[in-house]
Amino acid sequence: MNTFEGICEYCGRSEILMAEGKEEADRTVTENCACGGYRQQQRAELLMEYIDDITKENTEKNFRAMEDAQVIGIKDAAAGVVYGHFDEVKISVVGSVVVIKSIINKNGERGAKITRKAVSEEEAEV
Ligand SMILES: [Zn+2]
Repeated sequence: MNTFEGICEYCGRSEILMAEGKEEADRTVTENCACGGYRQQQRAELLMEYIDDITKENTEKNFRAMEDAQVIGIKDAAAGVVYGHFDEVKISVVGSVVVIKSIINKNGERGAKITRKAVSEEEAEV
């Protein structure tokens, strides 16, 4: 253990603390920084994992698989919601509608809520 200057990777705030090395000092300051950048990044990563799940084929829910370009578009939109660029995004894709909404979570932090609904319709003209 020695004294190091840890720097938050999101806001640049620095703090002198005891750590095993510079890397650990940076990580400790980043993970505990009041700017919330680290937790926001964690939420964004969780959301991306969830998007990987819900964009796959799911016959039980009547979801068709999405192509890579569609998944990337949804992830970009979701990141925009988590980082506060959009309040709500609605995407119609392969027979379903994906809605990503900005929310304030139980810790008072900006987050996102995502839903995918299969759209099915039947119509006939005679
Ligand atoms: Zn910070």
